[in-house]
Amino acid sequence: MARIVQKFGGTSVADVDRIRKVAGRVKREVDAGHELAVVVSAMAGTTNQLVDWTRQTSTLHDAREYDAVVASGEQVTAGLLALALQELGVNARSWLGWQVPIRTDGIHGKARIREIPTDEIVRRMREGQVAVVAGFQGLGPDNRITTLGRGGSDTSAVALAAALRAERCDIFTDVEGVYTTDPRIVAKARKLDKITYEEMLELASQGAKVLQTRSVEMAMNHRVRVQVLSSFNDAPGTLVVDEDEIVEQQVVSGIAYSRDEAKITLLKVADRPGVAAAIFGPLADHAINVDMIVQNISEDGRFTDLTFTVGKADLDRAVKVLEEKRASLGFAALKPDPDVVKISVIGVGMRSHAGVAQQMFKTLAEKNINIQVISTSEIKVSVLLAEEYTELALRALHTAYGLDAS
Ligand code: ADP
Ligand code: ASP
Ligand code: MG
Repeated sequence: MARIVQKFGGTSVADVDRIRKVAGRVKREVDAGHELAVVVSAMAGTTNQLVDWTRQTSTLHDAREYDAVVASGEQVTAGLLALALQELGVNARSWLGWQVPIRTDGIHGKARIREIPTDEIVRRMREGQVAVVAGFQGLGPDNRITTLGRGGSDTSAVALAAALRAERCDIFTDVEGVYTTDPRIVAKARKLDKITYEEMLELASQGAKVLQTRSVEMAMNHRVRVQVLSSFNDAPGTLVVDEDEIVEQQVVSGIAYSRDEAKITLLKVADRPGVAAAIFGPLADHAINVDMIVQNISEDGRFTDLTFTVGKADLDRAVKVLEEKRASLGFAALKPDPDVVKISVIGVGMRSHAGVAQQMFKTLAEKNINIQVISTSEIKVSVLLAEEYTELALRALHTAYGLDAS
C-alpha cells in the first residue's frame, strides 16, 4: 500500500464527462489499496475567464479580490470530483485551500506555500477517504484567500506530496509527458522517459508550461518523485529524477520558448559609472524583474545603447517608471517592443561540451533569423528573436541538435 498524490490539469477536468473519467482513474488506485490525495485545477478556460472579468471590472485591481475571484474555479472541480467519486462508491470529500489550510505568504496573485498541516487529511486517508484538494489556492497570513500564480496547481500537488510524504506525485495533463520541446508546435518533438530536476527546472523557468517552475523547485528540494503523464491514455509518462539516474545524457535535452517577455531599448544613455544602477534600481523598486541585458560598446566614450527584457505584463509599467526618470537618467529615446520570443536550449551536458551556442547561432543564421539579445548560463543558452520566427526557429533548432523523433 502506498500513499499517492495525483493532480489533474484543466483539460483533464474540462467537463463533467471528463471528471467522471478522472474519478474512474482515482478509483483504480483506491481499489489497489492505496491512500489517495487528488489535486484539481479549474476546468480549462475557466481561470482565463475569471482573470478577464477582474480586469474588465478594475484595471488597477486589488490583488486580494483578484485572488478571491480567480480561486473560485478550483472550488467547482474539487466539489464535482468528490461527487463523481461518491457516485462510484468511493468515500471522498473536497478540501478548499483555507480548509486544509494550505498556509502561504501574503503575496497575493503569486503566493508561496509555507506550511500544510496534514494530520486531519492523513487520519481520514487512513480510514479510506480520498482527499480532493482544490489546487492553486491557499490562505494568507491576513486570513484571506491567496493564489499561487498561473499553473499553480502543479505546486499545490507537489507541496501536498511533500507534506504527506507521498511515494509519488502524478501530474496528469493533456500530453503524454515532458517532450524535447512543446509537441503542439514541433510535431517531431520526442517524449523523454526521464529528465533531471535541474533540466526540468530550467525548461519550466524558460517557458515550458508543462510544469510550474515552483513545483519543480519544490520537488527538487523535498525529493518528491514527480511523474508527468496523460490523463487520456495509459502510456508511460516522464519521470523527473536525479542526474545519476540518467544513463545516456544528451548534450541538449530540450528547447523552451517564452512569448511572455518584452524588449526595451534605451538609446543614447550616458556611459558613466552608476547609470545601470540608476536604471535598474527603480524597476526593482516596482517589483519589475529584468531578465536579459545587453549594453553596446560606447563608440565615443560618452553614450551607449542599453537593451533589456521584462515580463510582457510589466512592459507598460516599466515604460512609465523609466519615462518618469527620463530627465535624471538622460536617455535620448525609449523603444518598447512586445513582439519578441525567447528561445532557450537546455542540457546538463553543456557543462562538458563546447559548441552548443555556436550551433544555435549557425542554425538561426542559416534561416536568416536575426538574434537580438543573447544570454547564457551553465546549462542553458537563450536568444531573443522577433516573435514571428518562433515556429521556424524551434523546428530548425530541434533538428539541428538531433532531437527529432525518428
Ligand atoms: P494542465 O492544464 O494539465 O496543467 P498545461 O497546459 O499547463 O496543462 O501544460 C501542458 C502543456 O504544456 C501541453 O499541452 C504543451 O502544449 C505544453 N508544453 C510546453 N512545453 C512542453 C514540453 N517540453 N513537453 C510537454 N508539454 C509542453
Ligand atoms: N487554474 C489555474 C490556472 O489556470 C491553476 C492551474 O491550472 O494550475 O492557472
Ligand atoms: Mg498547468
